[in-house]
Amino acid sequence: MDAMLEAQVAIVTGAASGIGKAIAEKFVSEGAYVLAADMADVTLTAETGRYESVHCDVTSESDIERLIAAAESVGPLNILVNCAGVSTKVPIDEMPSAEWNRILDVNLNGAAFGIKHAVRAMKRTGSGSIVNIASVAAFSTTSLYNTVYAASKGAVVSLTRALVYELSPYGIRINAVSPGIVDTPILQRQGAPSVQERINRIPLGRLGTAQEMAAVVAFLASDAASYITGQTIIADGGLTSVLYAPSS
Ligand code: NAD
Repeated sequence: MDAMLEAQVAIVTGAASGIGKAIAEKFVSEGAYVLAADMADVTLTAETGRYESVHCDVTSESDIERLIAAAESVGPLNILVNCAGVSTKVPIDEMPSAEWNRILDVNLNGAAFGIKHAVRAMKRTGSGSIVNIASVAAFSTTSLYNTVYAASKGAVVSLTRALVYELSPYGIRINAVSPGIVDTPILQRQGAPSVQERINRIPLGRLGTAQEMAAVVAFLASDAASYITGQTIIADGGLTSVLYAPSS
């Protein structure tokens, strides 16, 4: 079978860890050249010479511009994946405005300004595919004090839809993936009892893996999804499809 992303130039933000790292590794294995962007250095389990680590804070528009320029020095930019993300848990009546803005700056504004500059590059190419990483938190509440994270991810789903009219005439598709509860370093830091409590609520009976999320992102980024735009695929083991699991 042909590689899904042969000769594609792709940017993946948040590529140093968890889901972003798995996406970058999947993309390289599918034939793409990957600009692996993060505030931390990125080392992938992937063929060297098929990716480069690019320092980029997605809250800095000048960092984003440098990232796009680095991609275009390799070839026309084909794919952008906005995966950099942060979360916090603070009761709403104690929320410092700086903390609220920090989460929106990375999760929403980082994606929006990544799209702004990627679209300029993709218009030069006449095609492109953008995939935003949202969350089930956009649709359903999975934990206490998660307000700003949920609001940021809801906004990511909305902007994905809102850009369809604007980007379609240029051959640019834009979609999102909303992961459920995925086994990444963030989750493991929460401790075993809390993780088990969550697993008990997942119809498929287990956490998702970063590789399972990467497979959905690779599909949406590729020509296999050439007639799909404006959509959000929820990859959550059934979590948002059930209110509770009846015993009979
Ligand atoms: P992670 O913490 O393992 O990875 C996040 C990466 O983003 C890190 O490498 C971090 O350095 C990078 N990052 C943070 N701020 C940045 C910035 N300003 N500029 C550039 N890079 C920055 O987390 P993860 O679990 O792999 O999450 C990846 C994405 O998936 C996030 O958007 C997260 O909200 C989303 N998500 C995760 C889960 C889950 O269960 N793990 C569920 C739903 C959605």
